[in-house]
Amino acid sequence: MSFVEGLRCRECGTRVPVAAVHVCEWCFGPLEVVYDYDAMRGRVTREAVAAGPESIWRYAPLLPEPPASDPAGRVDLGAGWTPLVPAPRLGAAVGLRDLWLKNDTLNPSYSFKDRVVSVALTAARALGFDTVACASTGNLAHSVAAHAAQAGMRSFVFVPADLEQAKILATAVYGPNLVAVKGTYDDVNRLCGELAGEHDWAFVNVNVRPFYAEGSKTLGFEIAEQLGWRLPDHVVAPMASGSMLVKIDKAFSELVTLGLVDDVAWRVSGAQASGCSPIATAFKDRTGRLRPVRPDTVAKSLAIGDPADGYYALDAVHRTGGAVEDVDDREIVDGIRLLARTEGVFAETAGGVTVAVLRKLVRQGRIDPGGRTVAVVSGQGLKTLDATADLLGPTFTIGASLDEFGAALSLAAPGPRPVPRSEPA
Ligand SMILES: *Cc1c(COP(=O)(O)O)cnc(C)c1O
Ligand SMILES: [Zn+2]
Repeated sequence: MSFVEGLRCRECGTRVPVAAVHVCEWCFGPLEVVYDYDAMRGRVTREAVAAGPESIWRYAPLLPEPPASDPAGRVDLGAGWTPLVPAPRLGAAVGLRDLWLKNDTLNPSYSFKDRVVSVALTAARALGFDTVACASTGNLAHSVAAHAAQAGMRSFVFVPADLEQAKILATAVYGPNLVAVKGTYDDVNRLCGELAGEHDWAFVNVNVRPFYAEGSKTLGFEIAEQLGWRLPDHVVAPMASGSMLVKIDKAFSELVTLGLVDDVAWRVSGAQASGCSPIATAFKDRTGRLRPVRPDTVAKSLAIGDPADGYYALDAVHRTGGAVEDVDDREIVDGIRLLARTEGVFAETAGGVTVAVLRKLVRQGRIDPGGRTVAVVSGQGLKTLDATADLLGPTFTIGASLDEFGAALSLAAPGPRPVPRSEPA
């Protein structure tokens, strides 16, 4: 029951059959998956979705699925259907009355990348590949290695050599061919582009990128379904290539097309780290021109200096009336701590970026304080312990005696320790 019609160029509209290709032969524009929405009507219903698995695959008709006859089936570690939780304490701290968190730290490899990888490897296997590869800023490597292990596929994962130790180890344990490249993500990506021409491998974010990118739509589908089939007023999402944000917007449009939600206006806003903010810079310049940068930020998972979907992300932000902002390393760490202290969610640096940008956008009056806002928390904090290591430790260190603890207790704050409210300099 696949509704996929083929691939289409996002620039010139040229159609091509499903294959491991990502650029248009005519204009070099990126290709995306096209579906037959008419055929879905009446078959893709709220009830049918609700009867599906508690994973991204409950939206299988809206994903590039292999045909039911394909014995290979899905590559599935259980990505998705992560909690959407109200965040009243964080909301109060930043000035929002109806804030929610999409907690994607709770995926099988602890980041949102499991959504895109499950879809990409499913497509890769259906297309006949036995080897998968990727260029990664860390989380993708971790997720590809895990899914490839479970699927019994050979994998080559390429990462910048200066990646966080936790991400290297958490990837290596699955037994991939882990290749550390001396250079930035953009160097790694260029190398993978060249390798894709030489090896018959599925590079999840190169030749099978059209399929990979579709996985991010499930964030949008889940947010709407978990809100009782209603769209939020505003979504704030972190941006590396910009693909996730573009696909959340596309997901909302698809739900409207299918009549699964009411067509009310929504906004999407993007969050970047100041040390790698080409999309935020283009948004603020109003030149609309994206200029590649050399990343220098603690938010390594977002450190893409030349974002593939940057223009499409800017388009979605402008079209919906959202905004793009960036925050520096100190604000990112503040964001991580603020989220943890108020809502009990420990996010990696990308989550710190999102929370700090959320706060900034509220201060700028770009988010309606009474509207329903969803912040996407895309990765787990244990992956980037280095970012907070210098600032965190025991509150008290004492000898094992009642007296010493009594002295410490007299210094302890009543109730929860106050939320830090450091202002940007
Ligand atoms: C990859 C990644 C993103 C953003 O990815 P896009 O390239 O913009 O789709 C956000 N958060 C985390 C933790 C990531 O690993
Ligand atoms: Zn084209």
